[in-house]
Amino acid sequence: MNRGFRMTRPNVYRLPPDIADFADRYQEALSRAIGNRMRQVGVPEELIGIEWWGIEKGPFVRYHPPQFGGNIRRGSNGKPGINVDATVFDANAPKMGLLLSWRTASLRHRIDAVIAHEYTEALAPQGEDFHLYAVKNAGNRSLPCE
Ligand SMILES: [Zn+2]
Repeated sequence: MNRGFRMTRPNVYRLPPDIADFADRYQEALSRAIGNRMRQVGVPEELIGIEWWGIEKGPFVRYHPPQFGGNIRRGSNGKPGINVDATVFDANAPKMGLLLSWRTASLRHRIDAVIAHEYTEALAPQGEDFHLYAVKNAGNRSLPCE
């Protein structure tokens, strides 16, 4: 009997199975690599990873559904933080996959784009639409990239 519960949610993005498997198998190594990249581009140590209930700790997480990355302005530790998820491995991810620059970017550049976006969003001025602020300003952020 159908009580309104939908077994499939066609509009919810899922990682391609090979990417999901890769992220699960190498979660720890990916977290180390992405944390190192965050340090290389100048993300302060205390902003690497998010402390919040139900969110994996560390720079690389597996959100369900996947969402590129996340940020928090005030975690359970009282501090802002950012992370990146396995969507960076998907050149055809929703919305971003429509952009030639995303589809053709190197993995490093996709990771850097998500880091810059989440970092800018986490530190956006109070009262701003954080996402829009990040879209407008992430490219100008003074992260010492490269
Ligand atoms: Zn955003």
